[in-house]
This record gives sequence, C-alpha cells and structure tokens, in this order.
Amino acid sequence: MNWKKWGIALAMSIFMITAAGCADNSAPRAGFGDEEKLKVVTTYSILYDIVMNVGGDHVEVISLVPYGANPHEYDPLPADVRNTADADAVFFNGLNLEAGNSWFEKLLATAGKTGDSAPVFQISEGVKVKFLTDKGNEGEMDPHAWLDLRNGMIYAANVRDALSAIDPDHAEDYQSNAEAYLKELEQLHENAVAEIRNIPEDQRYLVTSEGAFKYFSEAYGIESGYIWEINAESEGTPEQVQAIVDNLKQRNVKGLFVETSVDRRSMEMVSNETGIPIVGTVFTDSLASPGEVGDTYLSMMKHNIDTIVKGLQ
Ligand SMILES: [Zn+2]
Repeated sequence: MNWKKWGIALAMSIFMITAAGCADNSAPRAGFGDEEKLKVVTTYSILYDIVMNVGGDHVEVISLVPYGANPHEYDPLPADVRNTADADAVFFNGLNLEAGNSWFEKLLATAGKTGDSAPVFQISEGVKVKFLTDKGNEGEMDPHAWLDLRNGMIYAANVRDALSAIDPDHAEDYQSNAEAYLKELEQLHENAVAEIRNIPEDQRYLVTSEGAFKYFSEAYGIESGYIWEINAESEGTPEQVQAIVDNLKQRNVKGLFVETSVDRRSMEMVSNETGIPIVGTVFTDSLASPGEVGDTYLSMMKHNIDTIVKGLQ
C-alpha cells in the first residue's frame, strides 16, 4: 500500500467515524443498509447524483471512486467489491472512462457481475461519441460526454429505463422523477448556450489541464485547449506544456482554468510562461464534496458555466 492509499484509507476512516449515525447519502464507503430500497452502485460521483435524482426514495446508491478523485484510474477496496456484488444495479460511464488498469472490468469479474444477464448498465448508451486525436490516443473514445448537458439528459433517460426494468413496481415514480429532472437539465443547457455567447468571440478559448471539454465545446460554441488530452500516465510533459504555451501566445485569452480532480502544478507553469492568470476551478471528473458548491451534476455544470463566462472576459 503506497502513501496515497494510506491517505485515502485514513481519510475514509475519519469520514466513517464522523458520518457514523448520520443518514448522509454521501457516505461512499459504507455498505448498503436499507433492505427496502433498490441497491445501486455507480462508478463515480456524477453518476451517483444522476441516479439519485431519478431513483429518489426508492434507491440506495453507493459511488465507488471517492469525491475529488480521478475515475480514469482507481484501486477498488474490499468494500467496493462487496458493494458491487450486493448491488441490484451497477451504472458505469463507459466510453473509455473507467479503463485505467482495467479497474472496473476487474472489479465486475471479482464481484461476479459479468455476462449478458448481469444488471450492469452503460449510462452513456446512445451518446454520439467523440474521439481523441493526439498522437498515441488516435481513435480512442473520449469519455467526458456528461459535460454536454444534452448527454446528461441521455444518461438520465437511460437510468429511468434501467430502474424501471429492474423495479417495475416503481416505474411510474422513476418516470415522473426523470421528467422533472430532464426539464431542469434542459433549462440549464439553454441558459449555457445563451451565456457563453456573451463571451467576445476572439476570447472564447477554454484551456484546462486535461482535454475534457470536447463535448462541452461543441455543445456551447467555445473552442478548447489543454496540456494533455486525457488523464493517464504521461501528464504535463515539457513538450505538452510548451505546445499549449505556443498556442496561447497567438491568442487573446484572458484566463486559464484548473480542474478540481487534477494537480494544478502543470497549469501554474503554463500561467508563468504566458503571463495569463489562472482564473477559476472547474469540475470535470468529480462532483464537489457534499455541502459544497458543485456537489450535484446541475450545480457543477452551473458553476463551470458561470466560472468560464466570468473568467474569459
Ligand atoms: Zn477526465
């Protein structure tokens, strides 16, 4: 066990102690406790929130990757295997997200959730997939579809259909929860389109550490750049930093952004080299911790849109 894992284990034990006796639905390490409810596991926090919105009172949801951590790579704990084995439904993003070390595939195998009849659902089913383009990544799927709210609507509809199929007694509730939630997502999508249009066109360039904004870019009419294309082994090499610095020198960009689930040191280097300040923190692969701004999918998207619109003018 390396120091990072010790840190997580320690943080979790502190969390378990502080959360003991409290019915907070954010406890990501606890086991299932409510026999009345459908047991659902999601791979990371954004999916947790979408399932909670559609499932409402009928589901108990446990998210595997902790808040603030990177779902591209993860080392499941024994509790994750137990919870996955116990689950009535498992939701994952797919599109190459939970692929580092094949952690999710291995987890499903260990938990006995394999084969066509296993209640394992790819929440992004039906999304129009975008592909990576950098040398070495060509042809690989870009997983960050949820950063386009219209894809979030596809996710929510898939959750509605999956929950209704495995728990038909509550299908009507899943239907009406989803209907209300889809309306909110659509409204925020429309607002985002209008707000991003307010950024002067020549300043409309969104730079983050990981190139997570391909879907967002197309949805909201804003070009995006990055230091590295996808969270993986080689992040922030001198060549990658130099490439975005050269790119920025030819543009009129007012600010740079860092992601909550990524180390900010590479972007600090870009900022020092270009003199362009880091003007905000955005959410890509994780929600904020419960109780903070960005602790739901709607709130993280709204925060991102507001931060980007304010930071680029
Ligand atoms: Zn990512």
